[in-house]
Amino acid sequence: MPPSIVVIGSSNTDMVIKAEHLPAAGETILGGKFFMNPGGKGANQAVAAARLGGNVTFITKTGNDIFGKQSLQLLEEEGINTSLIITDPLHPSGVAMITVDKNGENCIVVASGSNAELTPINLYNAKEKIQGAFIVLMQLEIPVATVEYVMSVASQAKVKIVLNPAPVCALSDEMLQYVSIITPNKTEAQMLTGIVITDDISAEQAARILQAKGIKTIIITLGARGAMVLHENNCTIIEAPKVQATDTTAAGDVFNGALVVSLSEGNDVLTATAFACQAAAISVTRMGAQASAPYRNEVHALADNKVV
Ligand code: ADP
Repeated sequence: MPPSIVVIGSSNTDMVIKAEHLPAAGETILGGKFFMNPGGKGANQAVAAARLGGNVTFITKTGNDIFGKQSLQLLEEEGINTSLIITDPLHPSGVAMITVDKNGENCIVVASGSNAELTPINLYNAKEKIQGAFIVLMQLEIPVATVEYVMSVASQAKVKIVLNPAPVCALSDEMLQYVSIITPNKTEAQMLTGIVITDDISAEQAARILQAKGIKTIIITLGARGAMVLHENNCTIIEAPKVQATDTTAAGDVFNGALVVSLSEGNDVLTATAFACQAAAISVTRMGAQASAPYRNEVHALADNKVV
């Protein structure tokens, strides 16, 4: 078994309706097409890591309803260890209602439901798993207090902690000191540092501010440009493979899932970032969130310059 990756975060069901235009207040539009997709940053990242060969345990909290049961089944089908997933008897599973118009413009309402109820006490049974992990990956779609609790448990056991600070919110310096690797995108890095990122120089400035808070490695994802890695005193740009992007939904999620898989295989941060850029590049050529996450052989094919 490869070293254990523990992903802790959200799981949602995305309900998407494609319509001619976005409805105005009070308006009903007929004739839309409906799709139901598994989502949530936590689940997306867990699935991406599992498809790339990671030994993944995913911890989330779903409701005792049809959406929760379906999410669980899909995660199991991906080969993810779901034994520590918690069912909430009181709150519904997280859902996102998404309307997309003919130009691709969208309007989204998220009901976090049980994701917002994942408390530190819920993770009592998961303590051993977290402490025995090689790496823990988290995002911010669950309560910050829970993320902070996991960080304290993991860091005591010297487990590597990767934080994808999305959706971004204020994070205390005390909390950031636990983080081994932080992976904001451009906007999130801006929000965390106050530096407006317009080029590589401003990206490096933002990365150095995060480094000064005690984070060992900073990886800022830069969309089609790739990613900037600041590790010790070395700042490196890893360029993204050139691809025809059709849908960048969940590119960051695939990036994070791939990053932890490569790190869990013993690779250094630059090698892992290059692997993450390759996996994310494939995902942007396809529609959907989890649906776009590539399998290992597809990443190897891209790296070998074969068509994906
Ligand atoms: P997010 O999806 O969180 O907004 P980014 O837009 O920075 O984050 O994308 C995450 C990663 O996905 C990038 O670092 C890059 O590796 C890859 N990526 C995103 N857009 C493209 C693109 N157009 N072409 C190739 N790779 C891309």
